Amino acid sequence: MTSEFKHYGSGHSKHRADLDNCSACALMFAEHAPNYAGWPLAFLDNGRTIPERYLPALKQELARTDNEAYVSNLRQRLKGTGYEYLLGEL
Ligand SMILES: [Zn+2]
Repeated sequence: MTSEFKHYGSGHSKHRADLDNCSACALMFAEHAPNYAGWPLAFLDNGRTIPERYLPALKQELARTDNEAYVSNLRQRLKGTGYEYLLGEL
């Protein structure tokens, strides 16, 4: 378990998201994709469900060509999680 989902500071809520300064807010309250490096792994590492609105961005992460090791790791981590069904073939 890692601490990405721990709010930095206090008083954050969906209505007072601090996307630029708090990783928990960045991961949970982004509109389309978290602006946070390796964000899908943060969800998986913490046993959290990746929100449906992030699935198009998750597909984009898997299509990245700039970091083969990351994409390969992510692909492995997603296997057997049920995301295959949502994403199509992994
Ligand atoms: Zn926060």
